[in-house]
Amino acid sequence: QNTIAKTDAELWAAIQNENHRQEEHIELIASENYVSCAVLEAQGSQLTNKYAEGYPGKRYYGGCEFVDVAEQLAIERAKKLFGADCANVQPNSGSQANQAVFMAFLKPGDTFLGMNLAMGGHLTHGASVNMSGKWFNVVPYGLDANEAIDYDAMERLAFEHKPKLIIAGASAYSLRIDFARFAKVAKAVGAIFMVDMAHYAGLIAAGCYPNPVPHADVVTSTTHKTLRGPRGGLILMKAEFEKAINSAIFPGLQGGPLMHVIAAKAVAFKEAMSSDFRHYQEQVINNAQVMAKVLKSRGLRIISGRTESHVFLVDLQSKHITGKEAEAALGNAHITVNKNAIPNDPQKPFVTSGIRIGTPAITTRGFNEIEAEQVANLIADVLDAPNDTAVLQRVRVEAAELCKKFPVYG
Ligand code: PLP
Repeated sequence: QNTIAKTDAELWAAIQNENHRQEEHIELIASENYVSCAVLEAQGSQLTNKYAEGYPGKRYYGGCEFVDVAEQLAIERAKKLFGADCANVQPNSGSQANQAVFMAFLKPGDTFLGMNLAMGGHLTHGASVNMSGKWFNVVPYGLDANEAIDYDAMERLAFEHKPKLIIAGASAYSLRIDFARFAKVAKAVGAIFMVDMAHYAGLIAAGCYPNPVPHADVVTSTTHKTLRGPRGGLILMKAEFEKAINSAIFPGLQGGPLMHVIAAKAVAFKEAMSSDFRHYQEQVINNAQVMAKVLKSRGLRIISGRTESHVFLVDLQSKHITGKEAEAALGNAHITVNKNAIPNDPQKPFVTSGIRIGTPAITTRGFNEIEAEQVANLIADVLDAPNDTAVLQRVRVEAAELCKKFPVYG
């Protein structure tokens, strides 16, 4: 660290400022978390120097005997953690993991079913601006009148369009997903069933959310959200699909794997097997439920009515404030959230009528129900008076006190 300070003061300042921001702001972005020092160490290790195209025992480069150990540990731990037949730990990101599934099973022009981005799905599940939406014929499904996944409509669409692939999984959906129902539909229409569990992976590893692995042909994930590992991707699959998926990642999409990141994934998977991790995930859900309840009591509507996970969306329309304005006002008060479209949002995607709130990061730094309640009240205070500088100042002070009491890295 001191080396960067000496050789590159400009960059060092940016890193320091970001470290301070992470310590001093209340982080509620649902897809973010704080990794352990062990994960940071693995990512900062000399494994970054190594080229290792291929897979353990079958590399295109010499000198891979030790990175082979690291990758094999990551593979075995991922399989054990989720009860999967096979695992590929090389995807550089969640998006690349999803691209690998498309590459393995689809040709341009083929049809797949995915959750509508405007209803909580992810960009890579067929949004028109994404490769998944440009290269394939996407049939989106969404939510019913209760803002739960419309399983009946999904089933109808599957029978009507006979997709080659059905994707379950979301980026902004607070309820449990009925993976068995999806699997039944996929089987009935002869589609491959893929689950993108990126958001829920940590909860799933801890047994706090339904495990899609017994139901799905292939499960993709990120490793950096609730799972609390390094930024990266993961694919789990049935044995019969291992060859197709592995070939899609390398040589299909990627070159040399990021061995330092793979080592950090191995660290995170081991951490996720502990009882501490299970307690952590239980607390993540408790905190989210407390926050949703408090915000409801302060006159805000929670999309889908409640949360059964780490995340929920807040409808801001009762406060006559947009998602964009709320994100800025809360940011001003040192509370970080992201604006998020709500179902049937009247506002443009860059403005929105909602915010997304997630509890993985605050729970990692030690917040429990008491702090969750306090934070939710601070959020409501800001939303009630987004332009009142005295309110923003008071919230900033309270946020600072909370952050000081619960340091992230000490
Ligand atoms: N899948 C889901 C459900 C996500 O929420 C995300 C990220 O937000 C991704 C995939 C993409 O992950 P990455 O940002 O690593 O490409």
